[in-house]
Amino acid sequence: MASGVVLREAGGPVAVEQVTLPGPGPGQVRVRLAAAGVCHSDLSLARGTLAHALPLVLGHEGAGRVVAVGDGVTGLAPGDPVVLNWAPPCRACWWCTHGEPWLCARASEAWQRPYGRLADGTEVYPGLGTAAFATETVVAAGACVPLPGDVPLVEAALLGCAVLTGVGAVRNAAGVRPGESVVVIGLGGVGLAAVQGARLAGADPVIAVDPVETKAELARRFGATEVLTPGAGLARRVRALLDGRGADHAIECVGRPETIRAAWSVTRRGGKATVVGLGATTDQVTFNALEIGHFARTLVGCYYGNADPAVDIPRLLDDYRAGRLDLAALVTERIPLAEAGAALDRLGTGARSVVVFPGGADPT
Ligand SMILES: [Zn+2]
Ligand SMILES: [Zn+2]
Repeated sequence: MASGVVLREAGGPVAVEQVTLPGPGPGQVRVRLAAAGVCHSDLSLARGTLAHALPLVLGHEGAGRVVAVGDGVTGLAPGDPVVLNWAPPCRACWWCTHGEPWLCARASEAWQRPYGRLADGTEVYPGLGTAAFATETVVAAGACVPLPGDVPLVEAALLGCAVLTGVGAVRNAAGVRPGESVVVIGLGGVGLAAVQGARLAGADPVIAVDPVETKAELARRFGATEVLTPGAGLARRVRALLDGRGADHAIECVGRPETIRAAWSVTRRGGKATVVGLGATTDQVTFNALEIGHFARTLVGCYYGNADPAVDIPRLLDDYRAGRLDLAALVTERIPLAEAGAALDRLGTGARSVVVFPGGADPT
């Protein structure tokens, strides 16, 4: 029996409920969660802007320890620390075999399969296949990325979504090179990770943009050389910092029409705007027919940091160990499972609220 944060209806309330989990079955792993970050995609699921089978258990940025493994699972054993991957690549489809495992055709299969039952017998789905806002979960072995034993799990949880996405957007999707200028728009967990990614890539300057002025200090700590508020004249203010030219790169981490437009507009002629934020199907972004050719910019989408977790998470762990990647400062709040729903409502005020399960925090 596990306890999980259950969403029964899009737009409805969330509540901690008992969840009965069978297994693990063949190829599956049962994981006891230590920590799970509260991500904007959880809010999108709760509001229904991101469609998903219901009812579901929220949470997808989790780390914990293996409790049991099913038949045929190799390389994982009870006690092993792991971080969960919400889009595990199958390694066999067209995308996986053409070097784009983050676009795996089968990555979301687990989202569509009930994985347990609620107390009233209703089948329940694992949110984004992982269901990390729960004391335990059952996932495919491929959704578990092994961790070294010395990384605090509260910090490692962030590797499962925000950090992989934000750093990956800069390194993999944008391909930022040393000395290039980068504007990061939106300083949630993903955006602040993108600021760190820009620093890791050797970008200069790194201009961070967010309306919440208390984010400025965090952004500077993570490598921002300038912090601006959005709104009127943003593109002009950015150009003023860059010899009137605009930025080589913009990394958009919000997913709204106005911030996607802003990312486009702060980029120089011939520059590249990378959209990381996931918006709503009801929102439209418009471009006039002249500006696309005139500015000759590149506008690209980015999914899960265009990362291969099996490659990128070990690389991020190297950066962490070398002191180049600050995970601890991204954790701005530690909360119990029962407060996960309330934390969704105040998203945007800090970097990351992280649910810490009893016994989940490592001794310090
Ligand atoms: Zn996420
Ligand atoms: Zn695949």
